[in-house]
Parts: sequence; structure tokens; C-alpha cells
Amino acid sequence: MLALRPNCECCDRDLPGESAGAMICSFECTFCADCAEAVLRGCCPNCGGELVRRPVRPAAKLAAHPASTLRVRRKVPCSPAA
Ligand SMILES: [Zn+2]
Ligand SMILES: [Zn+2]
Repeated sequence: MLALRPNCECCDRDLPGESAGAMICSFECTFCADCAEAVLRGCCPNCGGELVRRPVRPAAKLAAHPASTLRVRRKVPCSPAA
């Protein structure tokens, strides 16, 4: 089950579990769609993997299976992958 991290690692924008604007890599590094496209160009800056849209967890399911509340942020600013 996906952890559904609550924020973008680059800009710290809130990305709730029911948000359609969250992008993740296979390790669940999590970014907003703006950072994923404009800054990262679809490539995870942590692991070099592909960023794909995170599936929405329906609000009704979030009650029983809540999203993670652990905010993860990168220590260095995001920049496009080399
Ligand atoms: Zn962002
Ligand atoms: Zn990654």
C-alpha cells in the first residue's frame, strides 16, 4: 500500500491522498505536478527514476487507510536532472 506522503519534497506544497496532482517514483519520492514537470522533467532527483502520477485514494478509503503524515523534504533545492 502506498504511504501517500503529505507534501512535495521540493516546494513543500500539500498533497493530500485524494489529490490528483501528486507525482511519485518507485520509492515514493513525492512531488507536485508543477515541480515534476517544470523543474524535474519527469525524473526523480533522488533516485533518477521515472515520476508517474500517484493514484488517488478515494476519500472514503482514507478514513480506514489514512495517508502518511510524515513530511519529507529534500535538504537541497530541486534542480533538473543532469
Ligand atoms: Zn512542488
Ligand atoms: Zn526517487
